[in-house]
Amino acid sequence: MSTFVVVGGDAAGMSAASKAKRDDPDLDVVVFEKGEWISYGACGLPYYIKGEIQSLQDLVSVTPEQFREERDIDLRTGHEVVAIDPDDRTVTARSDAGEVVQEYDHLLIATGAAAVTPPIDGLDRQGLYTLGSMSDGKDLREYVSRAREEEDLQQPDRGPACQFLETCNGPVGVVGGGYIGVEMAEALAANGFEVHLFQRGDRILKSFSEATSEAVLEHLGEQDVAVYLNAEVTSFEGTDAVEAVKTDDDRVPVEMVLVGTGVRPRTDLAEDAGVELGETGAVATDAYRETNLPDVYAAGDCAEATHVVTGEAVHVPLALTANRHGRAIGQTVAGERTEGGGVAGTAAVKAFDIEAARTGVLDHDIAQAAGFDPLARTIDAKSRAGYYPESGTVRVTLTVDRPTGRVLGGSLVSEYGEGAVHRSHALVGAVTEGVSVAELANYDLAYAPPFNTTWDPVLTAAKVIE
Ligand code: FAD
Repeated sequence: MSTFVVVGGDAAGMSAASKAKRDDPDLDVVVFEKGEWISYGACGLPYYIKGEIQSLQDLVSVTPEQFREERDIDLRTGHEVVAIDPDDRTVTARSDAGEVVQEYDHLLIATGAAAVTPPIDGLDRQGLYTLGSMSDGKDLREYVSRAREEEDLQQPDRGPACQFLETCNGPVGVVGGGYIGVEMAEALAANGFEVHLFQRGDRILKSFSEATSEAVLEHLGEQDVAVYLNAEVTSFEGTDAVEAVKTDDDRVPVEMVLVGTGVRPRTDLAEDAGVELGETGAVATDAYRETNLPDVYAAGDCAEATHVVTGEAVHVPLALTANRHGRAIGQTVAGERTEGGGVAGTAAVKAFDIEAARTGVLDHDIAQAAGFDPLARTIDAKSRAGYYPESGTVRVTLTVDRPTGRVLGGSLVSEYGEGAVHRSHALVGAVTEGVSVAELANYDLAYAPPFNTTWDPVLTAAKVIE
């Protein structure tokens, strides 16, 4: 009987473990997870902090008991793998009960990524938070609940807390204008905090198109979020607790700060075992997500993936890739060699009352480095038939390769519920299949007045740039 050992019990790890066991019930599957949570949806944490999701437990898709009893997986939480010996084919895991050495025939490193904080003075002040784990989410929710209790914002006759900014605890700071920063700005504002968001570059949501970034920026302003662009945070001031965020140009008083400045792949364990990293700093793998060490795989936020447009190795730490690559590895380990597929960098974000999505290559420098001659156009189009009530606007940016017309990427933004995110899926298909914009313009998309116009905004965008 062969043994499949998995390090890391979340998206990539548990997808692999479940698939391997399902396809080959004779396989011994052992999962080591250093924390107490497994198979959790970190993506839901901003909505838990906001108060839309009541319990951390609600974010767990499959419980440890279900994995153990129903899926027959040997799941060991509270076990940190501290060493891999590829010659002996063993891992060493440490827990409160001591050390165990576990043999493996196949090994998956699915250790994820950790939130990074830039080297800013005053990082040791109280009241500074990151959001990378369930326990971070718990801490932030407790902070929000405490502050709301202090301000007695929970009285039912007061209505939504955000209407009472003048009575709030706060102000609070958010450092970083990526999707976590934007989602947390919403979560905090909805709880009545006055939110100040600091972004070092000249726009938020940098991986989206400029037109999308501008739309989200404008909307954050409408929601009373103060956004500071080109704001390099130089220090967090205060004696014990943080009292102000200092930038080159401003000093903004705050009572708490969420630092959302990105993640770093957790690769120490892999590196120590001789696993090679790629240029992105994440674990390099082949199309089957196998590392340079035989029968040692890596997937999810700790690993690279191949971009479907550029063919380059990229580090795009998102949930579907982790699940998909983990599942493919499980299938391979169970006997059917399976590729995990490439990534298009598809991502979505909700910011208060608007939604945005992006896919493919939008950055002209990246496109040019990959040998393309990028051309971008942005259009605004109605989201539903003109005569249909409650229509909105969808803004679509398409980027194509000028000589060939190949669709390289797209970015969309609309009012929440007006379909920017779902429309992006047509573009994901075009980007992934490498179709031309003329072919995209001929896509037979569904149409009915409550959903779109006869020519969906995606088709209109394709016709405009064609
Ligand atoms: P992780 O989820 O990080 O899991 C890795 C696990 O390995 C952890 O549980 C860790 O404790 C464990 N581990 C690490 N080292 C060891 C060791 N040595 N021994 C044992 N165990 C170890 N993605 C999206 O696509 N859409 C979103 O909207 C979205 N929102 C997000 C919001 C937030 C706030 C966060 C934090 C992430 C969000 N993500 C989102 C990203 C998504 O959660 C990740 O891409 C996904 O969780 C990656 O799964 P993973 O299994 O690779 O890694």
